[in-house]
Amino acid sequence: MPDCLFCKIARKEFGSAVIYENGDVLAFLDINPRAPGHAMVVSRTHSETLLDLPDEALAPLFEGVKTVTAMLERALAPDGFTIGINHGKASGQAVDHLHVHVIPRFTGDGGGSIHSVVSNPPKEALEEMAARIRKAQ
Ligand code: AMP
Ligand code: ZN
Repeated sequence: MPDCLFCKIARKEFGSAVIYENGDVLAFLDINPRAPGHAMVVSRTHSETLLDLPDEALAPLFEGVKTVTAMLERALAPDGFTIGINHGKASGQAVDHLHVHVIPRFTGDGGGSIHSVVSNPPKEALEEMAARIRKAQ
């Protein structure tokens, strides 16, 4: 995708602090880090979200996430990680190229869990909701 920022970063047409790359993926530090070592992993294949990422690009992307998490573990010895995707505008996705955030977490860093991102529980009972979702398989 010619005008996509993260495609440009992957093609090295736009600078970034690269920490890992292979033929399929690239990882670089977030320009506005929320924690030391806050990294993002992207596929070299352009897709806006997980839903339009070709199946063959899935495993390489998540292998990249695992590799980068292990590197951050060795380099920074954090106490944990928050690993996640802002998936779609409503979730806060600002760059339209799928990227997985890997955020080192340190005890007492003041951050919350993924549960702190939203509090919008469903009105339906869990089993009703599960049945509705199963029908969509
Ligand atoms: P989001 O789409 O909400 O997951 O956020 C996009 C992320 O990309 C933000 O955390 C930005 O700080 C980061 N970002 C935007 N431009 C760059 C860039 N040129 N280099 C590195 N990170 C960037
Ligand atoms: Zn792209």
